[in-house]
Amino acid sequence: MPDHESFGLATRGLESIVVCTLSAAQASARRESVVSVLTSRDLASIVDLVVWVEVGTDDPSVAGMVAMAASHVGRVRLHQDGRHEVIEGLDPIASEDPMAFLPYDRECANPAPRSSRENSYPYAASRILSLFADPARSPDLAVVHAPRHFFPEQGGHLGEHGSLDVIQSRAPLLLSGKGVVARGIVDEHARLVDVCPTMATLAGVPAADLLDAAGDLLDGRVLTEYLGGERLPEPKVIGILWDGAHCGDLLHLAASGELPGLSRLIGDGVALRGGAVAQFPSVTLTNHTSILTGLGPGRHGVLGNVFYDRATGERVVPNKSAAWHRSAEWLRPAVRTVFEMVNSIVPHGDSPRTACLNEAVDRGADYSTMAMIRASGCSSGAAGLDDQLPDARASAHVHDMTHLDGSYFSWCSQVDDLGLAQMRRLWGSLESAPTLTWWANIVSDAGHHAGGPRSDIARDSLRDSDSRLMSFLEHLDELGITEQVTFLLTADHGFEASDPTITGSWRPALERLGIPFRDEGPGFIYLLPDLGRT
Ligand SMILES: [Zn+2]
Repeated sequence: MPDHESFGLATRGLESIVVCTLSAAQASARRESVVSVLTSRDLASIVDLVVWVEVGTDDPSVAGMVAMAASHVGRVRLHQDGRHEVIEGLDPIASEDPMAFLPYDRECANPAPRSSRENSYPYAASRILSLFADPARSPDLAVVHAPRHFFPEQGGHLGEHGSLDVIQSRAPLLLSGKGVVARGIVDEHARLVDVCPTMATLAGVPAADLLDAAGDLLDGRVLTEYLGGERLPEPKVIGILWDGAHCGDLLHLAASGELPGLSRLIGDGVALRGGAVAQFPSVTLTNHTSILTGLGPGRHGVLGNVFYDRATGERVVPNKSAAWHRSAEWLRPAVRTVFEMVNSIVPHGDSPRTACLNEAVDRGADYSTMAMIRASGCSSGAAGLDDQLPDARASAHVHDMTHLDGSYFSWCSQVDDLGLAQMRRLWGSLESAPTLTWWANIVSDAGHHAGGPRSDIARDSLRDSDSRLMSFLEHLDELGITEQVTFLLTADHGFEASDPTITGSWRPALERLGIPFRDEGPGFIYLLPDLGRT
């Protein structure tokens, strides 16, 4: 971990301003001041945890750093081997159980816990360490919003995600079809970084080739326990993402017979009741990148939906419609996408070997929605091509047309209908279909943001997504090839419902400290060098 304080602010054209860098001791003292303010009782309703990394005294395994977490109840040092060394008061991370709040009725009975002592934070140490492993983009501290924090004035919604906690980090994961063992729903979990090596393996990439561009092992592993049976010499794999689909509610609705497409996939495969644990923060672009590279944010470089790059002095906002087609610009050099892995072993023919639909992280894919946007030359990216999308009110897959009154839900419905049409065209026959197809759907994110999990609009967004899935499965049935295909379905994060009575911001308290800082997200706190006038 380099010394962040050695990075100066860009001073181009500001000759009269000098940057005063801080000594390590000064920087540490400032961080202490910030932690102290953020963990005050006054902010306890909106600040769940503050996390950062420090030089460890007895943990040389991760470049000498250890993960730290604090709240108003106490402070803990989290070691990679799972030990919790309580430094002060009570352990604010009382549990790391990835299966917490299961079976699902336990989550329904205790949604959005008010105290971190009643919550769970799976893989806390490794996820925190990864967030802080980028030399220029990692913040000095990260604030974990309390699950109930409602902050619409800063971009928050009724349904929210981003936390280190188990429910916002729990994405669904199921595997189905050719080469998958049929076990139904199992009381197990995985991690989203496992998706890339698992899909690559199903697509035929040898184990020895599951490496990043620097030749290092991935952060994820192949989920071999769910693979078995006959595999085809020319495998066909379809990865499906329902953005923000809530794991517990998804499986509940499937069990209730409301998601027939999903039920069909589960019947021919396996679904993990504990889902797949997202990387921290549990936000979209960070996890799409982890899913498709097998790396945590400290290695792939997409630290959040918004972050600050000290090396360039830039505020980077990769998660917006005008920037999705530029995602490759923010990937660190060690990244290899799953498309690049598969392309390295499949010979180039007339048909695309890899396809990537409605997904930002598309580098290397032979067929890609974002590549079409880049080729269009439209400077505003996907945002400038709305007039080419199908009419949402003519959609056969929208269960309640009143949801289209929301512009985000409506736009997502258009994009998802276009994605289905692309899928049907790409899959004209088994022979011409790509070896690996990645199909991202987004209306589930809109539904869950609008109403929170279990709301009518969230559940309808899952029903809409399932209707599109059923339509595609029926298309494969007509071709007689469904049983030749391997499916994986997941999401990028979970969701919890905020409480409109729990509002506020930690910004005024930080500003009173008089320490220069940036707060991106909000939640990523970058401590800045002093600017002094000459
Ligand atoms: Zn998302």
